[in-house]
Amino acid sequence: MNSPTATPEWEYAPAPERFDPGIKDRYRLFIGGRFVASRGRKTFETINPATEAVLSRCDEANSEDVDAAVAAARAAFRKWSRTKPKERAKYLYRIARRIQERSRELAVLETMDGGKPIRESRDVDIPLVAQHFFHHAGWCDKLQYAFPGATDPRPIGVCAQVIPWNFPLLMLAWKIAPALACGNTVVLKPAETTPLTALRFAEICEECELPAGVVNILTGAGETGRHLVEHPDVDKVAFTGSTAVGKRIAASSAGTGKRLTLELGGKSPNIIFADASIDQAIEGIVQGIWFNQGHVCCAGSRLFVQESVLSEVIAKLERRLRTLRVGDPLDKNTDVGAINSGPQLATIQQYLTEGTAEGATMHQPSTQSLPDKGFWCQPCFLSDVQPNHVIAREEIFGPVLAVMSFRTPEEAISRANDTRFGLAAGVWTDKGSKIFEVASRLQAGIVWLNTYNRFDATSPFGGVKESGFGREGGLHGLRGYLSL
Ligand code: NAP
Ligand code: MG
Repeated sequence: MNSPTATPEWEYAPAPERFDPGIKDRYRLFIGGRFVASRGRKTFETINPATEAVLSRCDEANSEDVDAAVAAARAAFRKWSRTKPKERAKYLYRIARRIQERSRELAVLETMDGGKPIRESRDVDIPLVAQHFFHHAGWCDKLQYAFPGATDPRPIGVCAQVIPWNFPLLMLAWKIAPALACGNTVVLKPAETTPLTALRFAEICEECELPAGVVNILTGAGETGRHLVEHPDVDKVAFTGSTAVGKRIAASSAGTGKRLTLELGGKSPNIIFADASIDQAIEGIVQGIWFNQGHVCCAGSRLFVQESVLSEVIAKLERRLRTLRVGDPLDKNTDVGAINSGPQLATIQQYLTEGTAEGATMHQPSTQSLPDKGFWCQPCFLSDVQPNHVIAREEIFGPVLAVMSFRTPEEAISRANDTRFGLAAGVWTDKGSKIFEVASRLQAGIVWLNTYNRFDATSPFGGVKESGFGREGGLHGLRGYLSL
């Protein structure tokens, strides 16, 4: 699969073949600038989902560890919030450069811990991580100009940040870079299945001599995240994850005075009009749903095809699916890697069973064999899907596409908007007027036109409806970390 999602602006280290990223047997929590053992002495394993091999053990932070990390962030805030903006910028530039220098090791680590193809970690995730730090380094001393009329934009304070496993280091960058640029301090919890790049990032903070306590990393499970977001001395909560957990956090934050941004789930429509360049649209569909095994919040998981080209699109999709290579994520020719965890694979399989039981037709044309070990799902799509089918309504978060058809633009718009989510949407057509008309009526935070899954640090990202609120990236993203 081509990976046109990021536009690398510099050259990277050569393709990581069998590169040893130097994983330690045991990782501790990063609190107040030091790696310390959890007070509860509990640990958990992180595995490679492509082999099921244990990669390392990490400490599981309990409520006392959360107290210590929040206290460290509070103490550091006094100084960091008053550090001259041009000095803060130097730290962010230093971190960005170090990420570039260590990009090979970070890409391998990301792929081993989470299962995504190395080509994606190397060409998309890690370059975008560096770009986020470079971009936000540039904002540090321009905040007054960013918001005309706001004479003294101030940081909010201590930020509790909780992230998911699908883009581990990239989600960290989306959270930490703007927070630090605006003068806040952070306590971040990575997902339980993908803690390793966040811990490596803690080492990078040490190397860059970031003042102690400005960034704290707590590994642990959902309970660690709950303690963190419910901590009374936290000023802002930034969460990316499922809508179910997001709703719980919104309820527990209500009335506390904490600022809150939520980036949640999606069931995004990708609409193909008959006048579109069909071959180009096929690549957009592939990119929209099979990128990162479909573990993408904005995945184009509901495909709406204009009726007159439906059979052509289905035939071409089948052909294209046969060419996707599924397997070893560390092989640079792999297109689709491993499913992130056993439970996630079970969830996907359950949806596939439900989809066919409801009457949808399964298309899984590849005859490739899959590795014996690890968690794997052949990329597939289902046709004959009805709008009320479970697979058309719920987020599957796997390499599964639901294909539906429409006759008129009006029908496409109303069916696309018939969802509780509103994260992203795609529109494929040759007609400029149709692009603007349809895009302006879609209920989605992001609308891609004749492209899909493009990300850039300068562009705001975020949802409407049950996909959350607040924006990350660009000028809009700074608002979530400032008192204006
Ligand atoms: P999740 O279960 O909601 O977990 C996200 C994070 O929250 C993890 O670090 C998790 O820890 C933690 N957590 C779990 N329960 C918590 C609680 N009660 N309080 C605080 N934190 C808690 O979601 P996921 O399955 O990891 O990720 C997939 C979801 O993320 C999908 O729905 C996807 O659409 C969404 N997502 C959204 C965006 C976006 O920008 N809109 C981006 C990426 C992903 P554990 O890892 O230990 O469970
Ligand atoms: Mg793992």
